[in-house]
Amino acid sequence: MPNKLISIVVSAYNEQDNVGELYRQLQKNLTDVAGVNYEIIFVDDGSSDNTLANCKKLQKKDKRVKIVQLQRNFGHEIAMTAGMDYAKGNAVIFMDADLQHPPAYVPQMIKLWQEGNEIVLTKRVDNKETSKLYKWCAKIFYYVLNVLSDTKVMESAPDFRLIDRKYVDFLKGFNEQDRLFRGLLSWIMPHDKVAIIDFTAPERFSGTSKYNFVKSLKLAMNSILQFSVLPLRLATVIGLFGAALALLMGAYFFFLHRDTLQ
Ligand code: UDP
Ligand code: MG
Repeated sequence: MPNKLISIVVSAYNEQDNVGELYRQLQKNLTDVAGVNYEIIFVDDGSSDNTLANCKKLQKKDKRVKIVQLQRNFGHEIAMTAGMDYAKGNAVIFMDADLQHPPAYVPQMIKLWQEGNEIVLTKRVDNKETSKLYKWCAKIFYYVLNVLSDTKVMESAPDFRLIDRKYVDFLKGFNEQDRLFRGLLSWIMPHDKVAIIDFTAPERFSGTSKYNFVKSLKLAMNSILQFSVLPLRLATVIGLFGAALALLMGAYFFFLHRDTLQ
């Protein structure tokens, strides 16, 4: 049987000191995996440092390295989508560039896929880097999202995951600008053929987090708006209420000044 192709999509924004080490660790971990070839797709999300140049150096010595270059910074979600659109694999693995998604788990993900799982998720058991405040905010966000929306989104499930081609093609059918990948995924998720790997996220290999409070809040707001009809219903009710109030007030003033109008 011919080898299957695995696409590894890595979104990188100013990760110049991480891409080389990630490539090295991926290569090391993938050499012994039987039955698959792989391609590594680095999506440069409009970096202003040497991320792109360093990816090009890797590509020069290894043709399995592919590069998708975005002209400006679009954000992680769009970058992942761009990588997914480019991926040719029978399965696509998404991971961060900073090694917080350890390449050591990739062989296990592939094995679970080879055993028949169509989606392999990961669950972060403990993240050494995140603060207590961030964890609390994330808890509140997932609580609000899951109360408001019909689609249940798993907490502590990072974007480190494998998706079979079948679902990749399905996801490619969506083209919302502000998409929340994990929300879309839980929406289309099959009930069986899903495996989950627990892992402990190490600290970033190099550099600092690209998410600040404002960026995270924007993502959270977009997700809630995207996956819940409640804000839309609320807007409709407020609009109707305003219109009814204006009508009543108009009628009232008309009634009040009916003599002067004649
Ligand atoms: N990232 C990206 N575009 C952005 C912000 C982040 O492609 O605008 C990438 C980043 O380079 C990393 C991944 O998304 O590979 C996760 O970002 P980060 O590590 O900063 O997030 P954290 O782990 O702190 O939540
Ligand atoms: Mg990170």
